[in-house]
Amino acid sequence: MHETDMTKALIMTVKDWWLAQPDKPQVSQVHLTVGKFTCVEPASLEFAFQVQTRHTFLANAELIIRETPLIAFCHPCQQEYRPEIGIQYACPICHSPMEDIRSGRELKIDRIEYNSQVESYYAPNL
Ligand SMILES: [Zn+2]
Repeated sequence: MHETDMTKALIMTVKDWWLAQPDKPQVSQVHLTVGKFTCVEPASLEFAFQVQTRHTFLANAELIIRETPLIAFCHPCQQEYRPEIGIQYACPICHSPMEDIRSGRELKIDRIEYNSQVESYYAPNL
């Protein structure tokens, strides 16, 4: 199952970071960006996260998912459009096939919020 493996990878990434922290902070929130075009179901991801973090250092952490829409760019028309996932992957004006995806394929950790002495966060992709 897609979401289960993805969650495993996500937890491993967070754990690597956490293990490197001298004070082992309490993680409160893990923020994710999930593109619509990854076909990952946020609800399934949340469920997998809950199940897999049980009795771990992430047991009290909340998974917060921000979904990004699928946005493509049409070169002949020089404009962005929003393809309809599973229905229509071409420019609505000139019908050129979708080739340049600008958004919607992301799957990354935005940041991790945790409590140490002060409220802090870690942003692995910045
Ligand atoms: Zn076009």
